Amino acid sequence: MNINTIQLFENAKRPIVGAGPCSAESEEQVVAVARALSSAGHVDFFRAGIWKPRTKPGCFEGVGSIGLEWLKRVRGEFALPVATEVATPQHVEQCLKAGIDILWVGARTTANPFAVQDIADALRGTDTPVLVKNPINPDLELWIGALERLNNAGITRLGCIHRGFSSYAERIFRNAPQWQLPLELKRRFPEIPILCDPSHITGKRELLSGISQEAMDLNFDGLMVEVHCQPECALSDSRQQVVPQELFMILDRLVHRSTKNENREIARYRKLLDEIDGDIMNLILKRMQISREIGAVKKENNIAVFQPFRYNETLQRFAEKGITDSMDVDAMKDIFETIHAESIRLQLRIVNDDK
Ligand code: PEP
Ligand code: MN
Repeated sequence: MNINTIQLFENAKRPIVGAGPCSAESEEQVVAVARALSSAGHVDFFRAGIWKPRTKPGCFEGVGSIGLEWLKRVRGEFALPVATEVATPQHVEQCLKAGIDILWVGARTTANPFAVQDIADALRGTDTPVLVKNPINPDLELWIGALERLNNAGITRLGCIHRGFSSYAERIFRNAPQWQLPLELKRRFPEIPILCDPSHITGKRELLSGISQEAMDLNFDGLMVEVHCQPECALSDSRQQVVPQELFMILDRLVHRSTKNENREIARYRKLLDEIDGDIMNLILKRMQISREIGAVKKENNIAVFQPFRYNETLQRFAEKGITDSMDVDAMKDIFETIHAESIRLQLRIVNDDK
């Protein structure tokens, strides 16, 4: 993919901050939040959803296009760029007509290539800034695919929003962060700014600060946070919204990490790591060679390549090493599982004479 982005937030200091209510509920509510946010000068753009994709019918589904008028007022009165979510070509058309500064594609929409293509087609010929939220499922290619569709339609001012991934197993967070996905996206497309949405990741206002700091530690470009003057009365996502003052406190407490990468001490340690990585690679290759020899013996004696007992025994050793040396047990297991999968692949080739 050839994403040709130009910086979306050219003069913004880091972190870039987008804030505003989950949903626009009334003109008074929107204006009150915007007034409080603009007064402190921390916020680079104002967000509010007017078409809300809700899991079940009967929930508050947004005020609809009347909300565009309120966003226009915010832009005029407080000089804040305004952003809202679009899910259909009709939404795009109305936003373009109203001159909305930034559009975002929601998590449920990113998961649907037909919908993303329709949005991209409706945007063709404009270069409206678009922020693409990750799809609800942890599928990096789907996320990138949405960016590609928009880029192919001529949108060069693209950004991403990491809002976590749906999970049955996750208890603490509403949407599991699975940081490895946004980090891989950043590795592949370093020129695309990426914001973290701690509100939808945590689902709980008391956890916002921790996740926001984690995003800064991981070198995210900014944050998009849900803010409401009376969160407990909010018509959507009430548990995760904070009052403007609390957002300012969270932002003030953030420890900013330098993006500079030159440090003599780190350079010295990195040299050591490079040496160790070399040793690890050589040891893995040596291990694979032995695995090939075993493959030949298995073939000769007609023994099955996969031996569950042996596999479990070794996996257990990795897990125990993780516990005794305080490394994450799952991470230790992943290392062995990857090595074992390659070992099995090599042996299968030998047994089947497919060298
Ligand atoms: C939102 O930002 O209010 C929203 C609906 O987010 P998501 O698409 O991440 O669920
Ligand atoms: Mn929300």
